[in-house]
Amino acid sequence: MKRFLLIALVSITSYLVFSQHVSTTIRRYMAKHPDGTSTSVSVGTVSNGSLKNGKLIPYRGTNFQYFDSMSYVNHRAFVHHKLKKTVLSSYNTLESKSNRKYTIMECSNKTGGKLYPHRTHQNGLSIDFMMPLKKNGKPFYGLDNTGAGHYLLKFDEQGYLADDKSISIDFDATVQHILVLEQEARKNGLQIKKIIINTELKDELYAAKNGSQIKAQGIYVVQKLTPMINALHDDHYHIDFAFTR
Ligand SMILES: [Zn+2]
Repeated sequence: MKRFLLIALVSITSYLVFSQHVSTTIRRYMAKHPDGTSTSVSVGTVSNGSLKNGKLIPYRGTNFQYFDSMSYVNHRAFVHHKLKKTVLSSYNTLESKSNRKYTIMECSNKTGGKLYPHRTHQNGLSIDFMMPLKKNGKPFYGLDNTGAGHYLLKFDEQGYLADDKSISIDFDATVQHILVLEQEARKNGLQIKKIIINTELKDELYAAKNGSQIKAQGIYVVQKLTPMINALHDDHYHIDFAFTR
């Protein structure tokens, strides 16, 4: 029993030291990358481009967080300034609608270009958003802090986690996020150009609350993907944005 308590104490202490260390590193990193006054420039396309004066997404806010500290400090959480504004005002709007928390996955490199292993994410206009999950009808966050390994989670064709069918994708929350993103994007001279999710999950997306609005508003969701790309887009939805002006 004593030994168990000792192990528990050591684990808790190292966890606290570690999380303290991470937050200091993150704080320093954020301090080193202030927005400044420069405007961002997206060069080329999402699959062959670069980014000038990219802006760093905050590591966390009241209802959102970035998914992986290593990805963050390796300069993979940069976007165009208009997209940063869009993303932040979207979370603000969502906060007034629900208590749900959201997680952002990879964005673009500080100067854009190839972001291994992604095919796109090259010019600051692409973001991966973690699928919001639920368990027994309630928001579930137990897999939000699994880091880069989250990309490898497997969901079935109805959006249930392969390893535990009590956990599933919250399509209502996904639709709400997409619609708010489009609304805020339009205010900032952007629009959703393309959403990539596993094509087997599109039925569930359209059937969710307000899901028909995605089609009604002309938001494009990808039609066909290679089996590998399809398999990678069950735990997150990738969105490419484009300028309207
Ligand atoms: Zn992506």
